[in-house]
Amino acid sequence: MSSSATAVVNGGISFWFADDGLPAVREPLTGDATADVVIVGGGYTGLWTAYYLKKAAPFLRVTVLEQKFCGYGASGRNGGWLYNGIAGRDRYARLHGHEAAVRLQRAMNDTVDEVVRATEAEGIEADIHKGGVLEVARTPAQLARLKDFHAHELSYGEKDRELYGAGETAERIRVADAVGSTWTPHGARLHPVKLVKGLAAVVEALGVVIHERTPVTEIRPKHAVTPYGTVRAPYVLRCTEGFTASLKGQRRTWLPMNSSMVVTEPLTDEQWASVGWDGREALGDMAHAYMYAQRTADGRIALGGRGVPYRFGSRTDNDGRTQATTVEALREILVGFFPSLAGVAVEHAWSGVLGVPRDWCATVTLDRATGLGWAGGYVGSGVATTNLAARTLRDLVQLDSGQGGRTELTDLPWVGHKVRKWEPEPLRWLGVQGMYATYRAADRREFRSHTAESSRLARVADRVSGRH
Ligand SMILES: Cc1cc2nc3c(=O)[nH]c(=O)nc-3n(C[C@H](O)[C@H](O)[C@H](O)COP(=O)(O)OP(=O)(O)OC[C@H]3O[C@@H](n4cnc5c(N)ncnc54)[C@H](O)[C@@H]3O)c2cc1C
Repeated sequence: MSSSATAVVNGGISFWFADDGLPAVREPLTGDATADVVIVGGGYTGLWTAYYLKKAAPFLRVTVLEQKFCGYGASGRNGGWLYNGIAGRDRYARLHGHEAAVRLQRAMNDTVDEVVRATEAEGIEADIHKGGVLEVARTPAQLARLKDFHAHELSYGEKDRELYGAGETAERIRVADAVGSTWTPHGARLHPVKLVKGLAAVVEALGVVIHERTPVTEIRPKHAVTPYGTVRAPYVLRCTEGFTASLKGQRRTWLPMNSSMVVTEPLTDEQWASVGWDGREALGDMAHAYMYAQRTADGRIALGGRGVPYRFGSRTDNDGRTQATTVEALREILVGFFPSLAGVAVEHAWSGVLGVPRDWCATVTLDRATGLGWAGGYVGSGVATTNLAARTLRDLVQLDSGQGGRTELTDLPWVGHKVRKWEPEPLRWLGVQGMYATYRAADRREFRSHTAESSRLARVADRVSGRH
């Protein structure tokens, strides 16, 4: 292990909380209560849903129940890529037709702008910079995938996406071995914790009741049960993403997958000059075990990728600690991308959980018979998608309660999608471990062979995991 990795702060929820401060925790529930809508989970999904419901119908009594504190989950730990990707679009195209998936994609493009608009309107300072998303290829096989990916995205109506060769890529950012890149304007980088803390304060000011340190143990129609009392409401919305497996009856609904991140110390002006990246694009690559990164407002690089992907029995972590080997692996990716930063210290490392449905498709649903709703299964694309999910849940509640009709959002193809559950253990653990070992092997093989053909290994892993 390098000397710079030994002084790393590991866990503490995330660098973003260390940077912006842990919040003063709100009061728990203190007995039975009633509401019009109860929302379980105080991440982006829950808080945006509370926000749009209150904006649409200020008289609604909305209560949020959060097991720890708002932003404790992925919303306080992510890479801060606010972008237009949504898990499952291609499958929705197969199930509902291309035009329906184009509508979904357009809604996602608009969602990036909606988050920028709403945060500005509410005075939430979240270090948002809309520089788009740049995805870089570093081997011939990655370049072939990049070109396919680029053409595929254009087929969903993204007219403003651009394809760059090695020279144009280097003008934007100097990534070692980069042979090309694709750029879309539909993306921004942000500070995840500033967004989630700002949002919690805004919804509270609108009159939403937030109880923190209040774990919900069971959701039943019209009931959210906690150790301190039960909240009754006609609508109970589950917004628990990677933690869903801990709820009664939900063990195999969404698989909790870990993703880990590191952040460097602030770079000097000379170091930034060696890297470029003046456009502050959200940065990714085309490896099978992909990376994602951002240039932070205070001049660091925050970079993520896959750590130990999944813990046996769908267990989730407590404080975001990640393995030393994962920290070192992410540092190696950083230095592989930017060899001139070999001496830069990694200051903080952490991990969080994503929710992965069996078919890798994000969904939003309100069951009109029971009043139970949920949104999630975003896999790694939730910073923007949570906002679209929230506006859709608002419309579904309005529709069901007779306060609104069908809307463009309620007709999107991810609404009401059903998927089968994951296999029981040990098959679930073995399958996911095998899949990620296969992605890493495929990347190594492509780097060594330097052919333009994607490793067949990765295609097999995609099929086995239900991803394609
Ligand atoms: C390391 C990492 C990096 C990521 N990077 C990106 C990125 O750059 N771009 C992107 O688009 N997406 C990214 N994601 C995904 C994105 O962060 C999530 O999809 C999104 O934050 C999900 O929001 P959520 O509100 O649905 O879930 P969460 O933020 O996980 O919130 C769920 C909340 O519910 C609470 N909760 C859970 N169970 C209970 C219960 N029983 N009772 C009460 N409360 C409960 C939790 O404490 C938590 O606060 C990343 C995720 C991780 C982990």
